[in-house]
Amino acid sequence: MIYIHVPFCRSFCTYCDFFSEIPQDHDVFARYTDAVCREIRSRKAEMDDSLKTLYFGGGTPSVLPLSHLSRILLTLEEVGHGGPYMEFTMEVNPEDIVEKGLPYAQSLKVLGVNRVSLGIQSFDDELLHWMNRRHNAERAREAFRIVREAGFTNISIDLIFGLSNLSDDVWEKTIDEALALKPEHISCYQLTVEGDSVLAHRLENGEYEEAPDEVCRRQYDLLCAKMAAAGFNHYEISNFALPGYEALHNGGYWQRRPYVGLGPSAHSFSGRNRSWNDAVLDGYQHTEESLSVEDEKVETLMLALRTARGIDQEFLFANCLPKDVERMVAEGALVKNGRRYRIPEDHFFVSDEIIRELI
Ligand code: SF4
Repeated sequence: MIYIHVPFCRSFCTYCDFFSEIPQDHDVFARYTDAVCREIRSRKAEMDDSLKTLYFGGGTPSVLPLSHLSRILLTLEEVGHGGPYMEFTMEVNPEDIVEKGLPYAQSLKVLGVNRVSLGIQSFDDELLHWMNRRHNAERAREAFRIVREAGFTNISIDLIFGLSNLSDDVWEKTIDEALALKPEHISCYQLTVEGDSVLAHRLENGEYEEAPDEVCRRQYDLLCAKMAAAGFNHYEISNFALPGYEALHNGGYWQRRPYVGLGPSAHSFSGRNRSWNDAVLDGYQHTEESLSVEDEKVETLMLALRTARGIDQEFLFANCLPKDVERMVAEGALVKNGRRYRIPEDHFFVSDEIIRELI
């Protein structure tokens, strides 16, 4: 599993504090690509193809010119970890897709991308403007059409809910619009106010108020009901897929498979230790931290219980108090399925509390 972080965006979204820069010239792309290619060569021994996936995330990978993307792919090939990949996902911005058009989307396909994740977030123009997204609803629909026309048969849409300025009506329309496009996968994230985002400053200055828990809950329940009715599996708290379209790469994260994260601010997991790169464009250092037994236990529980697959009973009973597990089963917060325990969908929304209590 290989993750490549592309730290460029054309503008910054209100709610985001990821490491990213607005490219001022072409030189930054060359510096970035040089750094990633150097890193690929120096870390090739860590790459493990037992789950052969490649994921370009960001930032906005669709801002990176194709020539640079090709150079990264060629370098992966040179070190013996080139395509085809079981899953090769690229996060794209709808506005980039519309601006660059069908030839760009077709080129992504030729380069081996077989899953596109479209950062649509909303189909409400007012809300998109408030988020400082570059696209509007019409451009989002157009981007989807272009990606489909390019021949992609695995398209994911990202949406956001739980904003205090998102009404239930607009949320319902947003879900309906997303489903009307017939994507194979939908990821829906509840808005969180991140450390250094514009939104965090607005919250501090009293210009934004967080949505009450009951509103978020209501919007989440509506989402779950609509997705189920449309035939989607709710296979992870924030992720829904038509059967057979569950994300392999992200699934690997939740199963704590090893992965190599390349590029500025990317994180990696060796199967034992976690590591990360500095958040600078090039010349970044790689720092490693070993996890304690306690850290491993907490991580395993947290990641597995976010999924519908749940956790193995042996692990659960070896690491949690049996009386807590039994109480949660009695309360309906955990259900047993064969040799595994999982949080049922109607308790996904409070999974953090359930996991905290188990730990
Ligand atoms: S949400 Fe995505 S596009 Fe927006 S600033 Fe963050 S990384 Fe860039």
